Amino acid sequence: MTFRKLEDADVKGLRVLVRVDFNVPVSGGVITDGTRLRAAMPTIEDLQARGAKTILLSHFGRPKGERVASMSLAPVAPVLGALLGSDVTFVEDCIGAAAEQAVAAMKPGDVLLLENTRFHAGEQKNDPALACQIADLGDAFVSDAFSVTHRAHASTVGVAQHLPSYAGKAMARELTHLQKALGTPRHPVLAVVGGAKVSTKIDLLQNLVTKVDMLCVGGGMANTFLHALGKPVGASLCEAGLADTARTIMTTATQNDCALLLPLDVVVAQKFEANAPHQTLGFDGVGETDMILDAGPQSIDALKAAMDTANTVIWNGPLGAFELTPFDAATNAAARYCAELTRAGKLISVAGGGDTVAALNKAGAAGDFSFISTAGGAFLEWMEGKALPGVEVLKNK
Ligand code: AMP
Repeated sequence: MTFRKLEDADVKGLRVLVRVDFNVPVSGGVITDGTRLRAAMPTIEDLQARGAKTILLSHFGRPKGERVASMSLAPVAPVLGALLGSDVTFVEDCIGAAAEQAVAAMKPGDVLLLENTRFHAGEQKNDPALACQIADLGDAFVSDAFSVTHRAHASTVGVAQHLPSYAGKAMARELTHLQKALGTPRHPVLAVVGGAKVSTKIDLLQNLVTKVDMLCVGGGMANTFLHALGKPVGASLCEAGLADTARTIMTTATQNDCALLLPLDVVVAQKFEANAPHQTLGFDGVGETDMILDAGPQSIDALKAAMDTANTVIWNGPLGAFELTPFDAATNAAARYCAELTRAGKLISVAGGGDTVAALNKAGAAGDFSFISTAGGAFLEWMEGKALPGVEVLKNK
């Protein structure tokens, strides 16, 4: 996959529309985590340095096509301005006379933030009229929000159909790493997939077993696989109705020479609670009232051994109920080992998805992974092998 990059564009003096993801966490009107603002800085600073007029577009929350005061992007402008060390002008709409006038008054190097694109119902419908109105404000389009590429919205896809479009710096970094992990990876590739339910990850598992050399299934979803193999899972989270699906995935894995790693031993408790009394059992020794909340030490060793043979690790989902100590043990141990191998230059590690980032942060391992994607749905759809509409528009034809 090759895609058009911002660095390939001559943007001097141009009005450049940049789709960012400023859907930041806010409490009492105050931004509590500026990670997403910082992620957009390299692109904005590059555009400023090259004398472009930067016009920022983003959604914020789910206002469902109406103006909702609590979902205004207005509080973002001063915080972004402070990060950039320059003024960021805010306009109370992303189209219309106010936006047109503000853009007309811009000078090279200026930065403008437009109001929440989702205040217009046409945004999520990818309405061509809205896309056209937004596109009229710019000469070029830069997409810098991988997290929204799985949605064909007016500001992610529609605008790109009217203007020369490029991947911003954060987007380019993300696409390059994802490509290395699953597009053209160095084999053997090990996928680690955990989390609560098989039902949310069927497409992902089905795609991975055709692409990777080893697949470790962990977390609550492993219980469904154990059940499908006729093993007892007691009172554990288990989607018994998906036993056939699990069996199909196992068959496809065998047909594709993908080695499947399931828990060899499990940590069980009677309650889904931190520090609940617990014991480690073999995978066939689970009692009726037992709840499997984590993988045991033998399983961790087997996963570490698989990591030793891998050149690429791709990870989504925790291996146990990681929010509850000590049922975070398998996730922590495996994450730290993966981080160690990455640091030693022995493999490339890419992880993503909401809870995964939290779990790897909690393990203190995230900093050493080659790349951590903060995108939730887009990361999963990419792992499912689906074409992401917001990426397709950036590809070289
Ligand atoms: P997901 O969003 O699908 O990645 O799932 C993450 C959630 O799975 C976390 O909240 C974990 O607590 C939960 N989880 C992982 N393993 C288990 C398990 N064995 N039993 C119940 N929940 C689990």
